[in-house]
Amino acid sequence: MSSTTDTNLESAGLEATDRKGALLDPALRNDFPIFGTEIAGGLPLVFLDSAASTQRPAAVIDAISHVYQHDYANVHRGIHTLSERSTELYEQAREKVRAFIGAERAHEVLFTQGTTGSINCIARSWGDANLHAGDEILLTVMEHHSNLVPWQQTAKRTGARLRHLPLTGDGQLDLETLDGLLSERTRLVAFTAVSNVLGTINPVAEMVHRAHAAGAVVLVDAAQSVPHMRTDVRQWNADFVAFSGHKMLGPSGVGVLYGKESLLDAMPPFLGGGSMIDQVRLDGFTPAELPAKFEAGTPPIVPAIGMSAAIDYLNRIGIDSIGTHEQALTRYAYEQMQAIDGLRILGPTPEHRAGLVSFAFEQVHAHEFAQVLNDRFGIAVRAGHHCTQPLHAQLGITASTRASFYLYNTLEEVDQLIEGIRTVQAMFAPQGRKRRKRRP
Ligand code: PLP
Repeated sequence: MSSTTDTNLESAGLEATDRKGALLDPALRNDFPIFGTEIAGGLPLVFLDSAASTQRPAAVIDAISHVYQHDYANVHRGIHTLSERSTELYEQAREKVRAFIGAERAHEVLFTQGTTGSINCIARSWGDANLHAGDEILLTVMEHHSNLVPWQQTAKRTGARLRHLPLTGDGQLDLETLDGLLSERTRLVAFTAVSNVLGTINPVAEMVHRAHAAGAVVLVDAAQSVPHMRTDVRQWNADFVAFSGHKMLGPSGVGVLYGKESLLDAMPPFLGGGSMIDQVRLDGFTPAELPAKFEAGTPPIVPAIGMSAAIDYLNRIGIDSIGTHEQALTRYAYEQMQAIDGLRILGPTPEHRAGLVSFAFEQVHAHEFAQVLNDRFGIAVRAGHHCTQPLHAQLGITASTRASFYLYNTLEEVDQLIEGIRTVQAMFAPQGRKRRKRRP
């Protein structure tokens, strides 16, 4: 570790050795070819945008390339060697996901196009079959648009009513209001396990328990939790769980919908087409068994195999160690940011948050922040509303800047971020503003 880091740790009143003990070996960055890339004409890449999409280790890139070079054909179709090989790899990927999230049966794991695809499947299939005028869908104010808009569309089609669990002042869900919002009219409760803006870790098992007690079905948006913390869908007892491969070192274009067998069996298929049928006549069809029933057409074969390689990699490092590493970086970043005048950190204190910190400055728009961090420091952060416009409206802002951490980030990168933030702040402070020409 550099002396800068030690100095900052000590000035933040922290025990540097404890912090370092929680961190992963930075040599694992060598597994990620992207870190050889230069930014803005020669700066090393500081990638703090993993909550949007992560980078991939060579093991994942190689697995994808290997399939295309040696094993690729369509799955479940041809009786030939390549089809058998790719079918086997595809089904191995399903089994890998099953074990990773603690599902009981591999056919409860459906491959989709991503979290958005998974939630839309439930909204269309389960929602249209089960919701009627007067029924209620309970969401939360902190949801990503992926877990808001599909339900708005479903509500419009079915006449169901949307309700929203509010936040506490520090950006946690206001669980005291939960029982008051749940009633015999509540048919579905859908919420995120971790907020992609506030970082808040929600008490999933407790919320599922309370929703079930009211007779509701529960969907958990686990896009921001599965990549970072141990997941056990049976311990959660959630009915449906959605997440994406590209947020956990895997390729884009693949996601997962976990569903309890009894519910999936009772649901009509969402998409129609090849593979999802048992028999087709000119006047109708009978659907296939799970999981094919919900995997119409050619599925994301290679992305699923790449996701499987990503899970191997995560297992090798250890998901608990990854979580501890992110916690250490997040706590360090949070404490450094707290010392910056005028910076508003969104969301709860570190013990209630996962590996990200979003912030806002009154004088500087998030886009300007991200631009300067990129151009002057090679730091990639996300700026904007992060697909959570209603949450930002609640917070009284239109945009924020988000730094999100993963297993390949380091304390030195947090230091660079803090230096970058201070630089931007100085540039845009009232006296600095005169000196710098603003972008149009
Ligand atoms: N839900 C949450 C909490 C997210 O953070 C995201 C992506 O940022 C999504 C859903 C949507 O994921 P995808 O774009 O992979 O479908």
